[in-house]
Amino acid sequence: MLKIAENVCLADKTSYRIGGPARYYAEPRSEAEVVEACRFAAEREAPLFILGNGSNVLISDAGFRGIAVNLSKCFSALSWDNATAFVLSGFPLDELAAAAAERGCAGIECLSGIPGTVGGAVVMNAGAFDADVSQTLRSVRALNISANTIETVYVKDLNLGYRTSTLKGGGYAVLAATFDFVPGDAARLKSIRDDILAKRRSKQPVDSPSCGSVFKRPPNGFAGTLIESCGLKGFKVGMAEVSEKHANFIINTGSAKAEDVRAVIRHVQRTVFEKRGILLEPEVIFLGEFQEPLYKS
Ligand SMILES: Cc1cc2nc3c(=O)[nH]c(=O)nc-3n(C[C@H](O)[C@H](O)[C@H](O)COP(=O)(O)OP(=O)(O)OC[C@H]3O[C@@H](n4cnc5c(N)ncnc54)[C@H](O)[C@@H]3O)c2cc1C
Repeated sequence: MLKIAENVCLADKTSYRIGGPARYYAEPRSEAEVVEACRFAAEREAPLFILGNGSNVLISDAGFRGIAVNLSKCFSALSWDNATAFVLSGFPLDELAAAAAERGCAGIECLSGIPGTVGGAVVMNAGAFDADVSQTLRSVRALNISANTIETVYVKDLNLGYRTSTLKGGGYAVLAATFDFVPGDAARLKSIRDDILAKRRSKQPVDSPSCGSVFKRPPNGFAGTLIESCGLKGFKVGMAEVSEKHANFIINTGSAKAEDVRAVIRHVQRTVFEKRGILLEPEVIFLGEFQEPLYKS
């Protein structure tokens, strides 16, 4: 039977190490328990949020008044049939990339080092170095939350685009995913993976809590370059700071509040808009209520 805890701090469930408590919190161990969590939310008319590794979310200081359902803890397994991987949604994407390289399965090596779960990666169509999840995903097994049905949805029906998919927005809980890789040379794949991990370490502030890139790539450019060109590296509010290493990262330098991060986000949006005429759109997902609004041009 599903255990549901109350008033659980969410900060340590996120890569930002920021955020207040969830009114209710569960770590389902089976599909039936995910269904149970959704039923619990529906019965109380409480909002429900599926949490993966929390590596792309900013949770408000006041927390979340609904139920946070964390699939990264117990919902994690991987099996193989030749170059096809069957993965539960809480499995770490980077471990899938490592296992694929080890087996000589190509197609996911460029996603090495992305710190999310497979579920979060599918929902966000996570990507890096000109590759993304859409290139190897075959299908997902997902709970349609309002219909309470478990469906197999094939990649062509997921509308996977730049950091988006039909699954984004909370209508589905991704339970599992199937990926079709192609045969490759294990040594070569491992060397690509090592290169990518080294590039991440040299270019990104991986030792500071963050959510990765805060803003989506604007048309014809990179958010980081644009932000840096506006002299915003090092800009800070409280303990939230535009990283000196990569300007599209806003890092938590100690005990930053979510409102500090929001204030930095707004300042960056306003400055870039005023200086360059481009409104940066956040990639990070916000959960809970914030006092600081986003900048509107
Ligand atoms: C240092 C760092 C580097 C990063 N680099 C990259 C990068 O190169 N490329 C990139 O694309 N991203 C990057 N990210 C962002 C992040 O890792 C990805 O977006 C990742 O895919 C999010 O996965 P997650 O499990 O952490 O999802 P979460 O952050 O927990 O959730 C993200 C969204 O997905 C939803 N979600 C999560 N799991 C499920 C599920 N099982 N079912 C339904 N909805 C779900 C959540 O509700 C939320 O809306 C980086 C982050 C950090 C901290």
